[in-house]
Amino acid sequence: MKKAIILLSGGLDSATTLYYAKNQGYQTSCLIFDYGQRHRREIQQAIKIAKASHSDYKIVKINLPWQGSALLDKKIALPRNRQNIPKGIPVTYVPARNIIFLSFAASYAEAAGAQTIFIGANAIDYSGYPDCRPNFYQAYQKVLNLGLKAGVEGKTIRVKTPLIRKTKASIIRLGLRLSVPYHLTWSCYQGGARPCGVCDSCILREKGFEEVGRR
Ligand SMILES: [Zn+2]
Repeated sequence: MKKAIILLSGGLDSATTLYYAKNQGYQTSCLIFDYGQRHRREIQQAIKIAKASHSDYKIVKINLPWQGSALLDKKIALPRNRQNIPKGIPVTYVPARNIIFLSFAASYAEAAGAQTIFIGANAIDYSGYPDCRPNFYQAYQKVLNLGLKAGVEGKTIRVKTPLIRKTKASIIRLGLRLSVPYHLTWSCYQGGARPCGVCDSCILREKGFEEVGRR
């Protein structure tokens, strides 16, 4: 069976990506990062999603003591109530996050003999992060082709971004068809018992579910 490594955050997009990969016939192994997020909730939800999908999972703890993001530093306020997210890179950007995550995934894939890495990056309904854009993934693919033993030996490890050009609503429609357990996903940048409803991530999620006629 073909193997894939899935970057799983506990959010809606990565959960949909996981179920998409399973539907494509991959044996899925989830990679979950404990990277000093503001809260533990998304890690707990990611574990539940991995289990629900009958995927194995690994949690990798990494430390970014320099922080540099509102998602890592509780002293930086999260943007609230932005119905139209302005252009520009917001304070929730984590320096080099997807480069770091993908590099761990590439190491895992190469060691485990997986030919594919899936990441739920999205360049439409997203927060303006540069490491979510298609041209970044095209360039990163070249890095893997040149920098991995597998790449040099002609067994290229591919990075797949099936959601990259989808709207939040079309991601949700796809996920509903694939029976993604959305009740287990956590999008909110804040922790707590319930989503805050006012951060960028909560707003994008709510808009998406509204558009498909679900709450
Ligand atoms: Zn929120």
